[in-house]
Amino acid sequence: MQDLYGRVVTYMRVSVTDRCNLRCRYCMPLEGVRFKDPADVLSWDELLRVVRAAAGLGVSRIRVTGGEPTTRPGLVDFVREVAATPGIRDVSMTTNGMLLAGMAADLRRAGLGRVNVSVDSLRADRFRHLTHFGDLQAVLQGVEAALAEGLEPVKLNCVALRGENDDELVDFVALTESRPLHVRFIELMPLGTSHAWTRERLLSAEAIRERIAERYAFVPDALEGGGPAKYYRVPGHVGTFGIITAMTENFCHSCNRVRLTADGELQPCLGSLLAMDLRGPLRAGAGDDELRRMVAKGIRAKPERHLMEEYLEETAGRRMWTIGG
Ligand code: SAM
Ligand code: SF4
Repeated sequence: MQDLYGRVVTYMRVSVTDRCNLRCRYCMPLEGVRFKDPADVLSWDELLRVVRAAAGLGVSRIRVTGGEPTTRPGLVDFVREVAATPGIRDVSMTTNGMLLAGMAADLRRAGLGRVNVSVDSLRADRFRHLTHFGDLQAVLQGVEAALAEGLEPVKLNCVALRGENDDELVDFVALTESRPLHVRFIELMPLGTSHAWTRERLLSAEAIRERIAERYAFVPDALEGGGPAKYYRVPGHVGTFGIITAMTENFCHSCNRVRLTADGELQPCLGSLLAMDLRGPLRAGAGDDELRRMVAKGIRAKPERHLMEEYLEETAGRRMWTIGG
């Protein structure tokens, strides 16, 4: 289905929980987080109804996210149902990888196609510092399990943080030499822990390319991801690296997605405050046609572009862990 600006929306990110087993410093504060009342979180059946409504409008790709999706019991069965939904041809997941090693085989069997694993440092002590509770070894075992199960392409998400992990960008690119891994460096966005974003902490796409160019020559690559990353490859490397340039090289004109929060808000844009409540209508007995009409309305409401910098104060309080990235 097309939005008002001619963009075709084929992709929905579904946050299945706002809870998480980590506390990444730029995402979720250590204290003071008020999680959703479990009664307000959509049941698996309610989430599925929204997925089916979206599929009826031409959405063919679903990404399961969170909070941390692997912490919600019942995930494997949900993935199985999503994968079996007519019209859905790609089911993927974004995870911090902590629990992935033990779940990769079941998720694969259920129909999960591929995973993105978030890992912001390859140094165990720094990784622990950035995430508060993260165990790098467990995450890397999750990555290996994903590769072994063929959950490919396996992508690694790394939020580039000036002065915190920018000395490691080349180490991430080094991983792509012999492993079929696709590293994506993400520009820090003013979302989540509202005090975490500063222009100084943001490492721009240009700066990321410069850092990598100090060690590697690279050329543009055309990894098909269906998403916003620009990809590059070091000649001879098996994997690629990409940059998600949300802040400094706007890609809103090609945006193809909407988001569903765990408590049932359809959000047409990560960087705007627009949200449509679907939980109320779902629980008031909305039929499939009505639900589909509401999702269509949400898609049509997609703004032309995000205004994250213009409305810094307003968007900064948006909790990335309920929206799901
Ligand atoms: N817990 C899962 C994970 O970390 O992969 C899924 C949810 S997490 C919110 C999804 C992605 O959003 C992660 O890759 C994370 O690094 C990214 N993210 C969170 N806060 C961000 C911010 N302020 N700017 C840029 N990316 C952010
Ligand atoms: Fe949890 Fe993911 Fe946010 Fe980290 S980025 S705190 S793993 S939701």
